[in-house]
Amino acid sequence: MLSVSEARERLLSGVEVLESETVNSESALGRVLAEDILAPHDIPPFASSSMDGYALQAADIAAASALSGVVLPVTADIPAGPGIPQVLSKGAAARIMTGAPLPAGADTVVPIEMTDDSARRGDIQAPQNVSVLSPVERGDYVRLAGQDMRRGEQVLTGGDYLRPQEIGVLAAIGRRRVLVVRQPRVAILSTGDELVDVGAKLGPGQLRDANSFMLASLVGRYGGLPTVLGIARDRNEDVEKMLDRALDAGTDWLLSSGGVSVGAFDCVKSVVERHGEVSFWRVNMRPGKPVAFGHYKGTPFLGVPGNPVSAMASFEVFARPALQKLCGRRNLDKPSVEVTVRDEFTSDGRESYLRVVVRREEEGYVAHSVGSQDSGILTSLVRANALLIVPAGETHVAAGRQLTAWMLDWVQD
Ligand code: AMP
Ligand code: MG
Repeated sequence: MLSVSEARERLLSGVEVLESETVNSESALGRVLAEDILAPHDIPPFASSSMDGYALQAADIAAASALSGVVLPVTADIPAGPGIPQVLSKGAAARIMTGAPLPAGADTVVPIEMTDDSARRGDIQAPQNVSVLSPVERGDYVRLAGQDMRRGEQVLTGGDYLRPQEIGVLAAIGRRRVLVVRQPRVAILSTGDELVDVGAKLGPGQLRDANSFMLASLVGRYGGLPTVLGIARDRNEDVEKMLDRALDAGTDWLLSSGGVSVGAFDCVKSVVERHGEVSFWRVNMRPGKPVAFGHYKGTPFLGVPGNPVSAMASFEVFARPALQKLCGRRNLDKPSVEVTVRDEFTSDGRESYLRVVVRREEEGYVAHSVGSQDSGILTSLVRANALLIVPAGETHVAAGRQLTAWMLDWVQD
């Protein structure tokens, strides 16, 4: 049977980054930049004070000490904000606020705490004179123009993932619109005669469709735009009809759950075979062995098993990196940590993704079982914060063993 890594490679080898579109910078969080960004001017644009204090020439107060302060006349008062550029008179000081432009002629700022003005902090009026009680190095407490970004400097690069701090850089340089990779549209189909919609009252033998909303949430989490198609009955025509509807509306990917096993009514695989090709079916993993990938009428199709736990594990293993690649992400790895296994586990030799709680303890990260590993127990995923990966070929994991765990909720930067 195909190994997890072979199957993932086969799937990812056909995935290309999508084209780009222009969006407002403030809504570009989590997107991937599709252009290089240059600073149009120096940031900050002017030299300014990094403290409330007095702007002056460091040479004028070289002799200052706590016992004998150097007294300078205060000839200007400079708040932060727009205003006519100020000039410092020779041998004088200017009261200055944090972020205010440094007056021409000043080379240094002395914080208010190093002057005799510190006791009168509430005063609105600047004093006539100030006594400086400590010398400072030339240039101290001054933010130079361009110290953050120089005019013409490349500050962000095409392919960068936009986190809040990158959005801040775009704002600082005045970029309202930015070119980013388009988000993949993913149509989500649940299959199963036993399934009913979330709002429905349950009849005998019926079960609510948990997967549609769970998979839609996963698609959104990894940068896609989900569309929930609803529930298809276990009949070829029904599955085809709903997939065709999604293609008509326009979709980059088709994602179904259920109906890819070997049961008499598992028709999803044969529908895809009939109208396209199945590139692989069944992978050596647990949970989530009956997973199918191929193309339906030319559109990529991933069919994950119906058990909600299997559906989510298959999604994390196959759909997540595919979506992230479509989105232009360079790093497709799931955030992971090396853990010490606290409870022993048994497996059946498939590469296993076991639900665990990973906690930081004295010896490092430790993985605890959340109880039953039955793939029908959706609440086991609610209790878990990680998937412990047991390599293929291992049937027994002893307590104390070191293994890798995928952190389910960690954001990949
Ligand atoms: P299947 O993969 O179709 O054989 O389904 C395996 C198990 O998962 C069955 O017990 C189904 O009832 C259940 N199942 C399938 N699809 C869903 C779904 N959308 N929501 C909740 N359970 C499901
Ligand atoms: Mg089914």
